[in-house]
Amino acid sequence: MADPRGFLKHRERETPSYRPVPVRLLDWKDVRDELTRDEATLRRQASRCMDCGIPFCHQGCPLGNLIPEWNDLTREGQWSDAIDRLHTTNNFPEFTGRICPAPCETSCVLGINQPAVTIKSIELEIIDQAFERGDVVPQIPQRQTGRTVAVVGSGPAGLAAAQQLTRAGHTVRVYERDDRLGGLLRYGVPDFKLEKIHIDRRIVQMEAEGTRFHTGFEVGKDLTWDQLRARYDAVLVATGAPLPRDLPIPGRDLDGIHYAMPYLHQGNQAAAGDEVADQIDAAGKHVIVIGGGDTGSDCIGTALRQGAASVTTLAIGKQPPVSRPDSQPWPTDPRVFEVSSSHEEGGTRDYLASTVEFVGDDSGHVRSLKVATTQYNADGSRTPTAGTEREIPADLVLIAMGFTGPDTTDLSHQGGVAVTDRGQIQRGGDYATNVDGVFVAGDAGRGASLVVWAIAEGRAAAAAIDQYLLGQTELPAPVSAHTQAIRA
Ligand code: FAD
Repeated sequence: MADPRGFLKHRERETPSYRPVPVRLLDWKDVRDELTRDEATLRRQASRCMDCGIPFCHQGCPLGNLIPEWNDLTREGQWSDAIDRLHTTNNFPEFTGRICPAPCETSCVLGINQPAVTIKSIELEIIDQAFERGDVVPQIPQRQTGRTVAVVGSGPAGLAAAQQLTRAGHTVRVYERDDRLGGLLRYGVPDFKLEKIHIDRRIVQMEAEGTRFHTGFEVGKDLTWDQLRARYDAVLVATGAPLPRDLPIPGRDLDGIHYAMPYLHQGNQAAAGDEVADQIDAAGKHVIVIGGGDTGSDCIGTALRQGAASVTTLAIGKQPPVSRPDSQPWPTDPRVFEVSSSHEEGGTRDYLASTVEFVGDDSGHVRSLKVATTQYNADGSRTPTAGTEREIPADLVLIAMGFTGPDTTDLSHQGGVAVTDRGQIQRGGDYATNVDGVFVAGDAGRGASLVVWAIAEGRAAAAAIDQYLLGQTELPAPVSAHTQAIRA
């Protein structure tokens, strides 16, 4: 049982430090300072998790992580039991412990009137120690069902589903069109947030368990979707939501204007040691990032490491409040002003900035952006305010305005999978599409989201597929709001 008075003894929230900015900008390695990992601090922090009775953190976490249980095991130094408990609900705590925005912490009961428990750092320490101790070993299935499943896409949704289905005894093959596995964890998120060793060592575990991987293979091109369906007893579509939102304003076709994803993809390739022909490079350039989310933040960190002359992020909306506004009370996950490790490293952020035109030089290359102050209209729409235009110098523009959804062209034409009017893949509460035996999970199903949701959906879709194949399932499905539908 937790120490009910721990939070009174230890009021301060202590988290591991990042390496100094000038040092970490010299490399692509994880920003965290390994030297500040300290077991005594972690155990002290874990003891701040009280026996609160109704742990709202369970609901805040899409995976339904059993947070108070592994906090208490951490407090007692029972690291092996802690990782067992953590793995019960999360296949890949090494991903979420590093890059999850931790909605569990914003719903922590202690957070009502004190800084929340450092749930994310505790999660990370539990899994990192488990790998170091050699506690993360393959879980070989005891029996084979003789059923086959194709998982298309090796992001966190596909990997979580594949691991669950393999452990349930199905024969699982993951198809990935990129040359390496991991989806956006590999080629979206930069190493300074998530070094790729963390993906690679999971893949080693999964291969030992029996999951097979096929990289450089694009379903829809190398094999049609209906051919794939005919070869397998079930198919899971976990292809992500890669279609970028554009900014179709005058000058959009100028050189030097790119979507964020090719830029980050190439940056990750280069960090992996690949030769990248014609790499988009920020060195010495005035960089403008349009869009203020995770993708924009990753562009900032990448551009600064490449040696950009300046980095400016433009956001069309208002700057969010620094602390929880009354309109978003505990235990909701509030939208507040975020300072990521990349924001700490440099650059400026410009709010209420509506880009109205890309201005080019004589060679057809972008030279500046014409920006006006955003005006909020009575109907809720946002428009540039006339007469407020100004120019910002720009040699490289990165459009990081989010994603409109999955690429469904081949899937619907070849596979007959129905798509909604808004371009999303139609699915029911059991993750099934309209085509018998074809399921969808992760960003491909819910739209661009978070790693924690991708893992949660991968686990839940695996349970649905197991049920479909065998008529019953013992695979656990997260009990978060959306995924409860599977049990209905
Ligand atoms: P993806 O990770 O997109 O993986 C889909 C995979 O399917 C890809 O590898 C793709 O190549 C493959 N594929 C697609 N079509 C085919 C096909 N026809 N045949 C074979 N393979 C195919 N979330 C967080 O929680 N924290 C963060 O810090 C964070 N940072 C982010 C930074 C960036 C730059 C981006 C873009 C996203 C970030 N996210 C973050 C969101 C998170 O990465 C995604 O929500 C998550 O990766 C979705 O997982 P997924 O498995 O559904 O899809």
